[in-house]
Amino acid sequence: MKRIGIIGGMSWESTQTYYQLINEAVRDRLGGLHSAQLVLYSVDFHQVERLQAAGDWDRAGDLLADGARGLEAAGADFLILATNTMHQVAPAIEAAVEIPFLHIADATAERIRADGLSQVGLLGTHYTMEEAFYRGRLRDRHGLDVLIPGEAARDTAHRVIFEELCLGRIESSSREAYRQIISGLVEDGAEAVILGCTEISLLVSEVDATVPLYDTTALHAAAAVDMALS
Ligand code: GLU
Repeated sequence: MKRIGIIGGMSWESTQTYYQLINEAVRDRLGGLHSAQLVLYSVDFHQVERLQAAGDWDRAGDLLADGARGLEAAGADFLILATNTMHQVAPAIEAAVEIPFLHIADATAERIRADGLSQVGLLGTHYTMEEAFYRGRLRDRHGLDVLIPGEAARDTAHRVIFEELCLGRIESSSREAYRQIISGLVEDGAEAVILGCTEISLLVSEVDATVPLYDTTALHAAAAVDMALS
């Protein structure tokens, strides 16, 4: 079994989901007392969020690249970054290490394509919904047609992530707001919706939508297990 390196803590609420899903999958596939071999580098999310808000992606990239080097030195065979948003600095991480980096958007898009879908809605932070590092990759590398909500809905999606989900707060009014946003994307033609923030699955699940939901946390964790056991 390969050793997984996880750059996490963004937020730790979703990193613990990764830890659980990865270990459950290894147990289910290998049986008995098997569990995942992994090393975790967990940041102080306050610091990362301040750099995001300041648009200082260079310093954020340096910070996560340091973490990546630490994981490589600790024997990780490959890396995952347990947040969609911070894939903005994936190039800095990839440049810092020799080991492979398993991109969350690739893990997600490959499953969507395998399911024969091409027109998808995307929910996440402002950065993920609006900037090229994520939408552009889904379109250019995977041929997906990506729809995003209107501006007010994007504000709501972003605010709920940072003011509630990353703090472990699950509010039914926010679940209802997300349901409305998802149904708006479906009205606009989405055949499925990507939960493109690793905390969103703490709030909504399949019962909240009339189309399939692609949970990036679960898909990324599953891809990491596939790679670890390959
Ligand atoms: N976990 C979130 C994501 O997947 C948001 C937190 C962050 O900004 O990294 O994008």
